[in-house]
Amino acid sequence: MAGPGAYWFGQEEIDAVMRVVQHGHLFRYGSEDDPNFLHTVATLEKEFAKYCGVKFGLATSSGTSSLIASLAGLGLKPGDEVIVPAYTFVASYTSCIFMGLIPVLAEIDESLTLDPNDIEHRITPRTKAIMPVHMLGNSCDMDRIMAIAKKHNLLVLEDCCQAAGASYKGKKVGTIGDMGAFSLNVFKTINSGDGGLVVTNDANFYEVAFGMHDHGHKPSRLGVEVGSRKMMGLNFRMNEITAAVALAQLGKIDKIIATLREKRSKLKKLIADAKDFKFRTLNDADGDCATLCTIIFNTREQAVKVSKALGSKTLDQSGWHVYANMEHVLAHLKKTGLPHVKGAYPKTDDILSRAMNISIGVVDGGLGAGWGININSSDEEIEKAAQQFIEACR
Ligand SMILES: *Cc1c(COP(=O)(O)O)cnc(C)c1O
Repeated sequence: MAGPGAYWFGQEEIDAVMRVVQHGHLFRYGSEDDPNFLHTVATLEKEFAKYCGVKFGLATSSGTSSLIASLAGLGLKPGDEVIVPAYTFVASYTSCIFMGLIPVLAEIDESLTLDPNDIEHRITPRTKAIMPVHMLGNSCDMDRIMAIAKKHNLLVLEDCCQAAGASYKGKKVGTIGDMGAFSLNVFKTINSGDGGLVVTNDANFYEVAFGMHDHGHKPSRLGVEVGSRKMMGLNFRMNEITAAVALAQLGKIDKIIATLREKRSKLKKLIADAKDFKFRTLNDADGDCATLCTIIFNTREQAVKVSKALGSKTLDQSGWHVYANMEHVLAHLKKTGLPHVKGAYPKTDDILSRAMNISIGVVDGGLGAGWGININSSDEEIEKAAQQFIEACR
């Protein structure tokens, strides 16, 4: 049960880790003259920024720390409101809450990402940012979201934790808004166990995000510059071993995505004629990670019947990816005076109650993707899964 990168661990990761361990230098900083200091974290940051086509990359300890560092980088202040979709992993909300920000939830549409039609009426004088989440490997409708952000002078932080390598109209996700936050945990496109990345083109956002991730230090510090720090920060640093694994995985990302797209299109073709459902809308079908194949049934009854028959579940049951299942977040929203009961986002509730995920590359029961194929599935296995799905739909 993991993401596609985990299925493709091999000699490359082993060699990269061994090299770091043999040199004995595991901390991200070191002396330029030390031959044992391999700059692996710094290299990952440069390579990932290059891969995304942006100026700055920052490696962190997790997707959650990437979100927190980015929210700090954008200069958001306690009491500011951030518009976030009602369908996302719990960390999209908690990162805001721990920064003193107020997550204001909005509906999703049939792409299972933030519904651009449900943003504007949620904007108040306190709204400072939108956090579109590229759920399940495909991008949000970024043209419309960016237009709304521009009109209302809002910042945009893309939560790309489920979509490393995805693009929107030729641009990598994370590079369309002001900042992008990525996760390298085991369920994502590529992984290093845990870990995260931040990207941006803005030097100031980068510098503050860097400071947040490392006790207020400036980027590329060599020592401790006492007296010159303008801000406080925490420790969200990545270490050299983690970066070695992440770099080896980054080397495989394009092949991973190409393989998943091929397998998913095979599966999609085979099940296309089964009745009473449609595939979720893809805001950019060519830029999709194809980690999942999301089905939206016409009725709740059909969704329950099919997912049960396959030993899976509908997406409204997918734990801490659905606002209605997050009792602690709901309790917090209640205290803040915001909608806090199941049913507060009826469009999201309806879509999720009729949706199911078929795993293609991300095999994760927690995401409602415990059934399907994986990146190593043969044609025969894909045909067998398709047959089972068609049977279950009858
Ligand atoms: C996984 C995920 C996160 C958090 O990433 P971690 O690395 O687990 O901290 C945040 N947002 C979304 C949408 C995610 O899927």
